[in-house]
Amino acid sequence: MSEETKTLNFIEEIIENDLKSGKYQSILTRFPPEPNGYLHIGHAKSICLNFGLAQHYGGKTNLRFDDTNPVKEDVEYVDSIKEDIRWLGFRWAAEYYASDYFEQLYVWAQELIHKGLAYVDDQTHEEIKINRGAVTRPGINSPYRERSTEENLDLFARMRAGEFQDGERVLRAKIDMAHPNMMMRDPIMYRIIHANHHRTGDKWCIYPMYDYAHGQSDSYEKITHSICTLEFDIHRPLYDWFIEKLEIFPSHQYEFARLNLTYTVMSKRKLLDLVKGNYVSGWDDPRMPTIGGLRRRGYTPESIRSFAEKVGVAKRPNVIELSLLENCVREDLNKRAERRMAVLNPLKVTIINYPESQGEDLNAVNNPENAEAGTRKVAFGKVIYIERDDFMENPPKKYFRLSPQQEVRLKYAYIIKCEKVIKNSEGEIEELECSYDPSTKSGNADGRQVKGTIHWVNAREALKVEVRLYDRLFTESHMDDIPEDKSYIDYLNPESMIAVNALAEPSLKEVKDNVQFERLGYFYPDPDSSPDRLIFNRTVTLKDSKKNK
Ligand code: ATP
Ligand code: MG
Repeated sequence: MSEETKTLNFIEEIIENDLKSGKYQSILTRFPPEPNGYLHIGHAKSICLNFGLAQHYGGKTNLRFDDTNPVKEDVEYVDSIKEDIRWLGFRWAAEYYASDYFEQLYVWAQELIHKGLAYVDDQTHEEIKINRGAVTRPGINSPYRERSTEENLDLFARMRAGEFQDGERVLRAKIDMAHPNMMMRDPIMYRIIHANHHRTGDKWCIYPMYDYAHGQSDSYEKITHSICTLEFDIHRPLYDWFIEKLEIFPSHQYEFARLNLTYTVMSKRKLLDLVKGNYVSGWDDPRMPTIGGLRRRGYTPESIRSFAEKVGVAKRPNVIELSLLENCVREDLNKRAERRMAVLNPLKVTIINYPESQGEDLNAVNNPENAEAGTRKVAFGKVIYIERDDFMENPPKKYFRLSPQQEVRLKYAYIIKCEKVIKNSEGEIEELECSYDPSTKSGNADGRQVKGTIHWVNAREALKVEVRLYDRLFTESHMDDIPEDKSYIDYLNPESMIAVNALAEPSLKEVKDNVQFERLGYFYPDPDSSPDRLIFNRTVTLKDSKKNK
């Protein structure tokens, strides 16, 4: 679709109207991760959306760490989040921390107290919960709701000064305990937590709640369009209330449906449990839906950005097929990945009429989709390995690979014919003897044609490599719909990773990037590799094999 005919999503529509009407001269968005875990593909969607909109409309995007809960957050996560965003190809205009605004937020809270719009509540956590009422039943006003401004200011200052224990008092907004939206029933603004914060240390022992911190941080930075996920729509009246009562810059919140993917889980807590329980090797295990995991698996930033684009911006919750993500990386790697030959499950083939001493270098195309990738030489010889799957002793009709007395083409080389099947004492196929036709050398324009072409590796110089084949992490497509008495751990796929010793052409040693093993899929070198033991992760197969099953 061209730019002109592409239909706008609802957020683009809002932005275009806001720019047209002169409400804003330029837009400012933000990506606001809580540094309590590693980013996943859902966050990638949000990053692409926030940065993408700003890029498209000539605006900017801030990175703001939403670090208002000292108990769960850590600087380790801050670093990885920044690395992931950069890797995705985005640059933030400014880097902020909600904790930078603690002083300002405190001053604004005092202002609300002055306006009679906030009060210190001494009720216990339990009492507050019970007295909030229910959707069908109004809440009950706190006995502390009518405290004087002076008393509230004094108590609030003493909360800050550390005079009280965790949970002893909270600061609440004074709104309406009978409000139909439970969020508006005197929401808590501050709670006491005596804990060390990864940035502010022990300076604070009162911490703002998400609802109080988020909108005010947006407003402080003059964010124009604050985009978040759908669960926050019921928070919007509160977001607006704080901004209106404080009479500060009117940021606006817009909600879109969070990204869900089939065959995986996406909450940071569940992903953390997978790591802690050693169900995966770490945050960047190639089976994880984390950005680190996808990167290690061989996904490219381009493929993830293209996925985010294709998913679009929905207003209703939905679950996107994992195969859509896989198709995006296939499409990208088809253009960029060089081709090499590797055999995962080798079957030895001796070419009986090929001269013992002879060897020859054959021309192989590095990437048929990209002429600039050039060619390389692959050595042919008397003994080669083919894929066990490419031979059948008793083939069905229309089997075009190798079988007794049948012919097949060896990629970049010759047509061979299977003359003899050699078996061991258990009756297992151990080796094949084939003949080759010297006149059929690849590139020979008037040579004979056969229906099947298979890949191979020369035995004399074959390189042993470890190949890790991945499958879905979970066996269920809709992991949010599993029965309540089950845990998502029960659905882990025991075959989500299979390590194989493969044989490959030696030029693989020089490969530092995504590569296609012909007919087997796209692969990516794993950081666990050492010079004498290369390891490759299969990013994705060449075709969507699950589709036809
Ligand atoms: P999780 O629920 O996975 O722990 P979170 O929403 O708590 O994630 P945050 O660090 O608060 O994680 O999220 C940062 C931003 O990324 C927020 O704006 C949030 O709305 C967005 N985001 C998180 N998960 C998704 C998702 N699955 N799809 C789209 N956006 C997401
Ligand atoms: Mg969150």
